[in-house]
Formats: sequence, C-alpha cells, structure tokens
Amino acid sequence: MFDSHFHLIDPRLITEIDWQNNRPCGVEIGADFESLPAVFAMAQEHDGIYCTAGVHPAYADSYSANDLENFVVANLANPKFVAIGECGLDYHRDDLPARATQQSVFASQITLANKYAKPLVVHTRDAWDDTVTMLIAHKAELQHGVLIHCMSYTAENAQYLLRALADVPLYFAFGGHITYKNKSFFHDTLRVIPRDRILIETDAPYLAPVPKRGEINRPEYIQYTARQMALVLNLTVDEVETLTRDNALRFYQIKTAPLK
Ligand SMILES: [Zn+2]
Repeated sequence: MFDSHFHLIDPRLITEIDWQNNRPCGVEIGADFESLPAVFAMAQEHDGIYCTAGVHPAYADSYSANDLENFVVANLANPKFVAIGECGLDYHRDDLPARATQQSVFASQITLANKYAKPLVVHTRDAWDDTVTMLIAHKAELQHGVLIHCMSYTAENAQYLLRALADVPLYFAFGGHITYKNKSFFHDTLRVIPRDRILIETDAPYLAPVPKRGEINRPEYIQYTARQMALVLNLTVDEVETLTRDNALRFYQIKTAPLK
C-alpha cells in the first residue's frame, strides 16, 4: 500500500516501526516548522518514504512565511520533497488559532506551492465553507494539484468542489474514518469521487480504523481502511492498492516507483 499521509516521526510511533518486516511506504507529512528537518531526514533515510513541508493550522500562530520559503528553497533539489502542506483550516476546537490567522497562513502556503510548482495537501476540519471559498478564490494558483486529506464532508460537498475546480487536479484522501459505524455517510462521499482522484491514508498516529479505533494508529493498519474502501467501491483489496498507489504517485508527481 502507498500511504498518502502519515506522521512517522511522532514520538509515539517512531520507535514502533519495524523497518525490516513491516516497512511503511508513503508520504511523511510536515505539520509544524520546527519538525521539518526531522520529516526530511525520515524521507532521506528510507526508500519509499517521501516528504512535504507545511504548517498545520494548529500552528498558525507561529507561522513565518519567510522561514518556510527559505526552507522550501533550500530543499527544492531534493527528489523526496513532493508537496507543500499540510495546511488549511481547522475550526474544530476553540483553543485553535484565530480564524483570520489560519486563513492568511493557508493563503500564504497556497501561493508558496504555486510559486515552486508543488501540489498542495489541505487539512480542513469543521471549516468546509471557508475552505471552499479560499480554494475557489485561489483557483489560478492550484494548477499543480490539490489534495483534500482525510475527506470528512458529504457527497454533495465533494461534488460541489469538483465542479467549482473542474480544471484543477483535485484529489481526496480517505482514512480510518470510513470504517467508523456512525460515519457511514462517508461511503457516499467516496462513491461520488472519480476513481482516478481517490487516495488512501492512515494519518498515523491519528485516526486508527476499526477494529483499532482509539489506539495509536500504525502504518500497517491501512489494511482495515483498504478493506472498507474495497467494500464501498466494489473492488478487491488488490485493486484498491493499485488504484490508490497510481493516484498518489500521479498527485505527488513521483516518477520512480517506490517499494511495494
Ligand atoms: Zn496529518
């Protein structure tokens, strides 16, 4: 499986990974500026691991556009560096940075991705309307691709954005949340997205799928999400693996096929 979104450097996870027998393959996502060197070192040290540079909305208060751009420029020649993000909007809790701050930090990273011709990984939680408004306003800067990670909105929401951004390479990633019994409306969302725009992810250590829900999520738990995705899309697990791998490599513009 090619896991389109994980945080292996998380201290709860890093010591648990079995690089000999259960080697993860996918994209190590940058979420806060201080951790980016560790994110990039992770990708550098391991075949099949790629990396992104970005600042999650939870860290918007300490964002420096200059610092992030300098980091991006210093790493542009690194073939493992595949995207900008995760960035976006998160209105889930009251203690998160102010909405206006999140919005300007998001806009700054959209512009940065376009300037350096990188696809953009978007985090959006309880913030759909503002996310859509911003993506539409910045449509001209999205031509290198947009991924809505952990897509957790309705089928109608997905269809609306697909229409509004019809000429943008727009992808959606699904994780453990599609296995949650109280969230079966995500199955409808999954079904309306064109097959060539669907990615799979763990978001490990977050969002563990059933039957591991509530535990620290691990890369190998992607099998449970893949089984659920196969059921919903009426595919085999092997077909889900091939489909989501091809889509992820196309979105992230990864030219050399990574390890299985
Ligand atoms: Zn994440």
